[in-house]
Amino acid sequence: MKTPNKNIPCSFCDGELENGSVQHPYSWHGKIYLFENVPAQVCRQCGEKYFDAPVVGTMERAVLKKAKPRRTVRVPVFSFGELAVQPR
Ligand SMILES: [Zn+2]
Repeated sequence: MKTPNKNIPCSFCDGELENGSVQHPYSWHGKIYLFENVPAQVCRQCGEKYFDAPVVGTMERAVLKKAKPRRTVRVPVFSFGELAVQPR
């Protein structure tokens, strides 16, 4: 997650940014909060997402105030090292 910048290209790849609506996992104190339909600018090349400060603030407040989520999902968790040693 990076600070937005309307007229400057992607800071990772210099790609062009376009307005979009994205799904964003927000982590806070070891928990993941998933936000959907988040307005963002998305790099056409690498997909990096840029959010305006008020958008980030809205997500932060929702987490801090423990806003009621629309729904809750279970998320599978993998440890990369365990994956790497598994036989083919
Ligand atoms: Zn990019």
